[in-house]
Parts: sequence; structure tokens; C-alpha cells
Amino acid sequence: MSCISETMKELVKNSSGIRAMFEEGKRLARLRGAENVYDFSLGNPSAPPHEDVKAAVTRILNEESPTLVHGYMNNSGFEDTREKIAQSVNAEFGQDYGADNIVMTCGAAGALNVTLKAIINPGDEVIVFSPFFVEYAYYVSNFNGVTVESKTDESTFLPDPEDLESKITSRTKAVILNSPNNPTGAVYDEKILKRIAGVLDAKQKEFGRPIFALSDEPYRKIAYDGVKPPFIPSIYRNCFVAYSYSKALSLPGERIGYIIAPSDMDSFDEITCALNVANRVLGYVNAPSLFQRVAALCRDTAIDISVYEKNLSFLYSALTDIGYECVKPKGAFYLFPKAPGGDDLKFCALAKEFMLLLVPGTAFHTPGYFRLAYCVSYETCVNSIDAFRKAFDRAVS
Ligand code: PLP
Repeated sequence: MSCISETMKELVKNSSGIRAMFEEGKRLARLRGAENVYDFSLGNPSAPPHEDVKAAVTRILNEESPTLVHGYMNNSGFEDTREKIAQSVNAEFGQDYGADNIVMTCGAAGALNVTLKAIINPGDEVIVFSPFFVEYAYYVSNFNGVTVESKTDESTFLPDPEDLESKITSRTKAVILNSPNNPTGAVYDEKILKRIAGVLDAKQKEFGRPIFALSDEPYRKIAYDGVKPPFIPSIYRNCFVAYSYSKALSLPGERIGYIIAPSDMDSFDEITCALNVANRVLGYVNAPSLFQRVAALCRDTAIDISVYEKNLSFLYSALTDIGYECVKPKGAFYLFPKAPGGDDLKFCALAKEFMLLLVPGTAFHTPGYFRLAYCVSYETCVNSIDAFRKAFDRAVS
């Protein structure tokens, strides 16, 4: 007899293919030796955390009051941490934020869930751009919202503003933006963001109520060739930014990030109160206290992303030389090539025969592609090429 809820039964049944692949990677590594398995399945950062993080932890534990460092606090987080982060955002993006604009969260995942909890009524629609990070659909359904997909241009993976406009209805409450993007690595430029803002603004006027942009930005600091992802609040007023240190400081297990809520958004006071309470009632209570202190000290620290850039440049040219078709990413640490032979599920199964662990595009609601997370060692990238060649040849033969 099953004791779990009907909703959970469904979730367990469809439980993340990416995780399953990760487990499979570990199994194959035990069986065949880690050096013979090319595991590109999970976005676990390979760049080491910055030395500043270790120094900050030591300093905090040695110098700060334990009752402060390990105690309960305001559900939005330590006031001084939020103030320091606001100052850092102000310096980078020319804003005028204070502690009231920042809510500390358990990573970007926590930030998204807290924000959705604060704004979604059952049946409200949230638009996402395909391909998308599949967890969005689960987060939206946590609050009985409905996920609506809008397409991207397949030559750039940028959102299609006309398609977006056609998907907005009187139930649309929010649109999730994700740049740099998982799984495509696309970075939304100012021009496309202004067009999206134009569509949202016109629809807000038409319906006489806000439509929020929810900008999911765990990869903000990972962009290449001088590309700088635009700051959404400078372009669209009714927005939230979900930021995280998981990738920016290589600290995914520490669960630390924050929400920015700009003061000029509609119902700012009511919304920030709701974010605070949402953090509590969702059971997060507050973001981990030690790493809030670390985030305050390391607010301007950045990891060295050259390890990712080197992998990208190597893999992109090696794979396209073999014949893989791929839009060149501008950020994050993913490639999203077309699956040779056209069937992503078949191709990923075939790739596994050559010890290549990849995630089918179907997992991102975009069949016909696969995702390769190149946050692995350079050696793994180099050693994997023979397997990529063999998988390609077999798939197209
Ligand atoms: N959003 C995207 C697009 C991600 O890829 C991830 C993690 O991989 C998250 C959110 C969750 O990030 P965090 O670890 O900060 O919760």
C-alpha cells in the first residue's frame, strides 16, 4: 500500500532524468573506472570556490559572536548582509537599493519558490521559454500555478517576443527569464529584453494589473568574451531577480542566494512582506546564517571562469569539426547541440554505450537536442572526443 500523496506519486514517477543520469554516472564509474566515463550530465561547478570563501568562514567563526552567526534572525536575512549586498548591486548596476530590496534565500531555487509563493494564486499562468530548466514547472505547480511554454528562436535560443505576446492571457501572472541560460548558454541582449519588456508593458496596460518578470540568474557571473548580461530592473520595473552563489562562488551545497525586489515595482511594501513570510512558511525559515555572513564578505569576489571558457572553446570546435550542429553559447556552462540522427532519447542512449553521459533535450521540453554540462575537467573534455566521434558516426550511419 502506498502512503505518499497522489501529487508526489506523479513527481516520483517523472523524477528528474538528470539526477538519474548522475546516479548512472556514479554506477558506471564504479564499474569501468572514473577515468573511462565522460559524465557531462550535471551542472555541478568544477571551478573551485575562491580562497576568499575559506578565509571568510574562518574569520567569521573566529571573530563573530556564535549566537549571532548561528542564531535565528529576520526571515529575510541579516540586515547588514542585505545592506552590503544592496551596496554591491548598486555599485555594479547604478541602483539605489538598501536592505529592504534584498531577501536572502536558499539559493536561486529558494528565491524562485519564495517569489512564486508570494504572487501565485491557483490557476495563475507562468510563462517559461523552451528549452527551460525543468524544475520551473515543478516550482510553479508547488503553488497550483500553470506553466505555459513560449518558444525561442532556434538559431539563437533567444525568446520570440511575438510568440510570447500570443501566450499571454488574462491569467498570466509572471514570465520566467533565465540568462545566461540553462540549458542553451544563451545570454539575452538588451534589444531582446526591451522587446520583451514592451510586450509585458502593453499587456499590463491591457489587463490593468502587473505581469511580473522573474529573472533567474544563477549564471550571471558566467559569461564569456566580455558579454555582460543586462540588469533586468533597469529595463522592466515589475520584476524580481533570483540570484545565487551556487555557480558564482561554486557553493551549490551551501544553499545561498537572494531575491532583489525593486522599490518601484507595484505593491512593493506588500510584496516584500509576503516574501519575508513565504521564506518562513515554506519551511526555509531563513537562508543559512553562516553563508549569509560569507556572502556579505565575499559579495565582490568572483571565481575564475577561465576553466569553463577553455572547456567551451575546446569542445565547441572539436564537436562542430566532427559534424555536431550547435549554437555557440555566450555564458553558463552548457552546450545544447542538435542530436545527430534527430532523436535525442535514442542518441543519449547510444552515447552511453560509449561512456558519454548526456541529458536529452526532452528533459528541457525540447526534443531533438541534448545538453552537455562542460563543468568538468579539461582532461575529461579532451579524452571524450573519440567517444563523441564514434557516437556521431553511429547515429548518422
Ligand atoms: N535555475 C537554474 C537555471 C539552474 O540551472 C539552477 C541550478 O542548476 C537553479 C536555478 C538552482 O540554483 P541554486 O543551486 O542556486 O538553487
